[in-house]
Amino acid sequence: MSTTTAVGGSSAWGRAPDVVIVGAGVVGAACALAASRAGLAVTVVDRGPLAGGTSSGGEGNLLVSDKPAGPELLLALHSLGHWQDVAAHLEEVTGHPLGGIELEHKGGLMVASRPETVAVLDRIADGQRALGVEAIQVGPESLPDLEPHLAPGLAGGVLYPQDGQLQPVLATATLLAAARRLGAVVRTEVEVTGLMRTGDRVRGVILAGGARIEASRVVNAAGPWAGQLAALAGVHLPILPRRGVVLVTQPLPPLVRRKVYAAEYVSNVASDSAGLESSAVVEGTPSGTILIGASRERVGFDPAIPTAVVRRLAAQAVELFPVLAGARLLRTYRGYRPYTPDHLPVIGEDPRAPGLIHACGHEGAGIVLAAGTGQLVAELLTGAPPSADLGPLGPARFEGAA
Ligand SMILES: Cc1cc2nc3c(=O)[nH]c(=O)nc-3n(C[C@H](O)[C@H](O)[C@H](O)COP(=O)(O)OP(=O)(O)OC[C@H]3O[C@@H](n4cnc5c(N)ncnc54)[C@H](O)[C@@H]3O)c2cc1C
Repeated sequence: MSTTTAVGGSSAWGRAPDVVIVGAGVVGAACALAASRAGLAVTVVDRGPLAGGTSSGGEGNLLVSDKPAGPELLLALHSLGHWQDVAAHLEEVTGHPLGGIELEHKGGLMVASRPETVAVLDRIADGQRALGVEAIQVGPESLPDLEPHLAPGLAGGVLYPQDGQLQPVLATATLLAAARRLGAVVRTEVEVTGLMRTGDRVRGVILAGGARIEASRVVNAAGPWAGQLAALAGVHLPILPRRGVVLVTQPLPPLVRRKVYAAEYVSNVASDSAGLESSAVVEGTPSGTILIGASRERVGFDPAIPTAVVRRLAAQAVELFPVLAGARLLRTYRGYRPYTPDHLPVIGEDPRAPGLIHACGHEGAGIVLAAGTGQLVAELLTGAPPSADLGPLGPARFEGAA
């Protein structure tokens, strides 16, 4: 397909699109469906396969629990609502319950080993409650009722019933299939190597091989590579990969009911350190495997899965769930979270390159934030009033940054 020349008006690519979305990960897919549902003609391009980037390199948690009160938490709450709406739409078009993307709100449980840490968790939960999060204090005596296999001796925790989970690759593919039913064109193995411009304004994409797709808007949903895509428009977007490793156990009888994680996870998420940080995050999946995360380190796009990281994650998981000591690992994998220095996604039209709308930089929360991001991007594309506060998320915050 990439030999097709170009476009604008009509072409072998189908109806000339209103918008080209670069990136067929979960964020690009959510944008594609929301824009298609808003009546726009959409083309999605990706240089790899569907969900071939970070969306297949992470876990699928929909978390409010790990986000202290602030703009990211507000966006997560907004997005959880939109996941419900999207899932209802997917159910309607696929005929599978909630679209068959393994979406469930099974809750999250954050636990602490020391009373001082429980007090910190309680303070965080107070701030979250003020924004509408359901957060239930759990004393040490109640932990075994919630999670019978948890290690004894923990000091307490907080239960978050709104936390959920889905299967990100299934979700991405299903979102894109639903967008296609509404007329969207999805092209994989097609790389964007340039942006069509008139002055600063972005007017379409240039593909490897020289083909062009003209569109009045281009959405940058290029995940951890979004900074490189922005650079094609001459603008600086400080998005860096933050590598994370996940361990997958053999299928086991149900041992872990919710997403369970150690309190240190919250400080790991918020940290700016480039060095290795990890804390136990343990959850079951519908297939019986248990996912164990989560490490964080900024080492560029280094594809390694260091044995030291695997050992550390396994040891931390066993500390939380001693029963896992006997479990065998099926496999390990890694992905690159699209990190921004202020840990907030970038959603909005770039004032330095009008026509270019960013939907990127979601770091370790791109799955939960995808549905809300898609909705916001569709609103930007159609001129509808934004359904959430875009103020802290706009790319203007990087103006002047080099
Ligand atoms: C270990 C780990 C655990 C995680 N756990 C969770 C979790 O539990 N919950 C959660 O919400 N989030 C989680 N995340 C984060 C989440 O996976 C990401 O935020 C999310 O997948 C980002 O999606 P995306 O669509 O923006 O990026 P991607 O999925 O990376 O998609 C970007 C796409 O753009 C394409 N692309 C880039 N440049 C070009 C170009 N020039 N031309 C054409 N195509 C291009 C790429 O090929 C890629 O397919 C985790 C991440 C990791 C690494």
